[in-house]
This record gives sequence, structure tokens and C-alpha cells, in this order.
Amino acid sequence: MKGLMMHRPLKIADLITFAAENYPSGEIVSVRTEGDIHRTTYLETSKRVARLAHGLRRLGVKEGDRIATLAWNGYRHFELYYGVSGIGAVCHTINPRLSAEQMIYIVNHADDRLLFVDLTFVPIIEKLREQLPQGLRIVVLTDRAHMPETTLDGVLCYEEILDGETDSIDWPDFPEDQAAGLCYTSGTTGHPKGTLYTHRSTVLHAFNMCVTIPKTLCEGTRILPVVPLFHVNAWGLPYGAPLSGAGLIFPGGALDGKSVFDLMDREKVFSAWGVPTVWLGLMNEINQRGRLPEGFGDIVVGGSAAPRSLIEAFETKGINVCHAWGMTEMSPLGTQCNLPPQLQQLPLEERLDRKQSQGRRVFGVDMKIVDDAGNRLPHDGKVSGHLYVRGNTVTSGYFENPEASKEVFDAEGWFCTGDVAAIDADGFLKITDRSKDLIKSGGEWISSLDLENIVMSHPGVAGCAVIAVPDPKWDERPLLIVQARDDAQPRKQELIDLLAVRVAKWQLPDDVVFVEALPLTATGKVSKLTLRKTYAEDME
Ligand code: ADP
Repeated sequence: MKGLMMHRPLKIADLITFAAENYPSGEIVSVRTEGDIHRTTYLETSKRVARLAHGLRRLGVKEGDRIATLAWNGYRHFELYYGVSGIGAVCHTINPRLSAEQMIYIVNHADDRLLFVDLTFVPIIEKLREQLPQGLRIVVLTDRAHMPETTLDGVLCYEEILDGETDSIDWPDFPEDQAAGLCYTSGTTGHPKGTLYTHRSTVLHAFNMCVTIPKTLCEGTRILPVVPLFHVNAWGLPYGAPLSGAGLIFPGGALDGKSVFDLMDREKVFSAWGVPTVWLGLMNEINQRGRLPEGFGDIVVGGSAAPRSLIEAFETKGINVCHAWGMTEMSPLGTQCNLPPQLQQLPLEERLDRKQSQGRRVFGVDMKIVDDAGNRLPHDGKVSGHLYVRGNTVTSGYFENPEASKEVFDAEGWFCTGDVAAIDADGFLKITDRSKDLIKSGGEWISSLDLENIVMSHPGVAGCAVIAVPDPKWDERPLLIVQARDDAQPRKQELIDLLAVRVAKWQLPDDVVFVEALPLTATGKVSKLTLRKTYAEDME
């Protein structure tokens, strides 16, 4: 028997309408590419979003059209998230750190109609213009006074699109599984693949994050998304913050430790979200100044494993560390590691053991681990296997890419994350590795993440990676690659000795290589693919 309740489609635009009514003075602060600080509120933003939506329609944007952005974190980019999806079009965020070849591929693959660019990125588009779709129109995210000199034809000015439009709108209705956002994964092999979010998945994800991280996402807190709007919806913050009433502080393009510290201090940011590298920079700055930014109490770390030493540095200064795991294909949040009350009282070392794990699943995401043959493995915290997920916020296939889609689902329809993990009886997930980064030595797996974690605790190490190199006897052996801190010169033996205390002898790296700088992917993670190409050529 069917229930008798109304069915109203879940729609993204309702989040900003809700925020405007419930938290009208909730603030959005942005460091602008023009160089100044801009302040606005959810109420004002909802009006500008309405004007943008009218402007987009005037430019001929229709339901289902892909509208691209190439921009830093700022209020105009936030407005596009709502204005574009609100009228049923698809907001396609592009990562400016992608290679030229990848960017050309995805703009053509997505068949974008408009491309909104920050001033900073106009030169990139000038270079690529010839290879982008003919009909693509470029809009610069600025006002008339700041429009740049450019070789691009027919460029539009963002503020002029909004000028003269009315600041209220009746958002159209459409099914809740209407496409709303598009984000391509950087793709370690082959072309990038597009994850196409729906209104429903996005709104449910916003709910999930608000109920799972409630102390951070609540009325009146101030959150700094260092994680970019151009990658996986800034981990859902543009939706979760307006839903919960938290304010947003957008940092623009300056993400070094000093700039992040100053902004947090001035704006009294409570919680800051980003990848581990950003927090290493911030911690350096905190140590140099001998104090924390004012109002700071919480970080959310994800994207790659948070080193234990990093978690310890923040926790011992009284900052709560929430270690989170997710993927582009999961909207992205899968698990988060805020501790339940009974574990918060544990002694530091035990707390760190827990926090080093990626934590418990968010509502709506189911997880299983399986062996090579696909058999389920126990959740005992010891056995690790291939991690699969399913849920309302998980992709059901890549955008216009049936071949890639076929490869990532098992017979039961679960999505293969490509991660190897263990899950313990309390539901805590521990990622061991990405499957392709695992090292198989003499038939046994060695976790590169475990080794990296230990090496990162050496004060002279700024970053490191462990990769597999081919070995005639053992198949593969670990090689440690280290980037030292500016003023430090850690010795090979010191690092091996540090590892020897914690891991079995056969797991120790055979060699240590020092590099000036570790290569990074477009999403700011160490590029093991590049390292393998350099140091383990014949494996590729
Ligand atoms: P890309 O590789 O293009 O940056 P994603 O941002 O979607 O794509 O990356 C998702 C992957 O990042 C996960 O499958 C996992 O391997 C890794 N990852 C994310 N968060 C964590 C974490 N907290 N610990 C370990 N690995 C993580």
C-alpha cells in the first residue's frame, strides 16, 4: 500500500531560498580576484541568484545545457551553483589545474555552452580558445570596470548579465533526478570521467553532511572551504552551509599558510576544510606565530590520508580534527571521523589511533569489502579488501561514457571505489591504499599509506610517497621518495630506523630517494603515477 504524503521534488534552489528566509544575515565573505574583500548575506545572495537565473535565460540557456565554470572560491562562483541548476541547467565545474589537453577534452565532451572564468584564468582560455567548441561563449566573473583586455571574441561581463534583472523568481519544477552538476575526476588513466549529480543526490548529500557533522554545520558557525568549488562541490559545503545556517568564508586563490592564517584570524573562522597539504602549511604558520587564528576550533581533512603527525599537531593545540573520506563519484562524503562521546575521553595516543582511520559512514552510504573473487570479507578491522559502496549520493554511471561505467559496478550494482580498506566492528573504515598503489611483495601486501604516515612524523620531512618498484625476486618492493623541509636534511638511515620500530623488516623500503618537490595531481595529491613513471618505468 502506498503512503499518502505529498511528493515534492528535492531541488537545489530550495536550499538558498530556505537560507534567505531562515538565516537572512548569514554571511558569505570572499577574497576577490580583484584584490579586495567582498561581504554579502544569504538574503542578498538569493536575490542575485534570481537575477543571474533571469540573465542566463535571456542568454538562451535551456534545461539540460551544460554551463562551465573555471573559478576560485568566491561568491560569484557560489551564485552560479544555484543560478545554473535552479533553471534546470547543469553547472560543470572545471579544475584549472588540469592539463591543457584534459581541459580541452572535458569542455568538448561536456559540450559546454557558456564558460564563466575568473580574471586569473582568462589567459588560459585565450591559449585554448581554438580547440574549444565554436559556439562556446566566455563570461568573465567581474564587473565592467575590471574587464580585461583580451584576444577572446564576444566576451561577456558577469555583472552586466545581472544588471537590470529582477531579484525574485519562481523556480521551475522538474523531476528531482534532473542533472544539476557535473565534475570530472582527474583520471589517472585514460580521459577524465564525468560524475553527473542530480538535484536529489545533492540535496540528500546536504542533509547527510548536516546530520553527521552537526557541531560544525550549524547556525552561526563560520566555515572556510579551502577545498575548491571546482572540485567535487567543495565537499558539499555550498549546499550544507546554507541548509544549516553556517556562514562561508571563501579564500579566493591565495591558499598558502600565511594567507589562510590571516583570513581565518580576521574572519574568526571556526572550521576549515581541505586536503592535508594545506593544513601542513597552516600548522607551520601557527608554529611560527606561536598562536592559533582567533575563533578557530575545527578542521575537516580529506582527499588523501591525514598523516598521524598532522592530526596530533592540531589535536594537541585543542583543534578538533575530523578526518573524512570520499570520492568525486560519491558527492563526495563517504565517512567522517568525529569521535563518539565515549571515545573522546580516550588518552591522546588511542584517540589518534582512531582519528587516523577515516571514520564511520554517513547516512545513506552502504559499504562492503570483498576479496579478489568478490566474496564479502568480515568487518573485523583486520582483514582488508576492495571497498565497494552504494547509496543515493553515489554515481550510477559516468556521463556519456558507457565503457568506463561498465567497469566500475559489480553484479549487485555496487560501485567499486578503487580503494583497499578494512572496516572494524564499530564501523570505522581504515583505508590501506588505492588498489593501484598497493605494493605486493613476495605475495604479501604492503600498505604505502602506513609507511608514509610514519615517515611524515619525522620533523625534517615535508612530504613523502612510497611506490612499488619491480623486483626480480619479490615481484615488487617499496621505494620511499621524500621531500625534505627547507632547512632540514634527514638522512636515509634515520628514516629507515624510524620505520623499523613500527613495521616488519620485510616491509621496509629498499631505498630512499630525495626530491626537491613531489609532483602533485590536479587535486593537490601526490601523483604516484608520475613517480612510478620516473622511478619504476617498466611497471607501467
Ligand atoms: P581524484 O583522484 O581525481 O582527486 P577524488 O577526489 O574523487 O578524485 O579522490 C578520491 C580518492 O581519494 C579516494 O578513492 C581515496 O583513494 C582518496 N581519499 C580521499 N580521502 C581520503 C582519506 N581521508 N584517506 C585516504 N584516502 C583518501
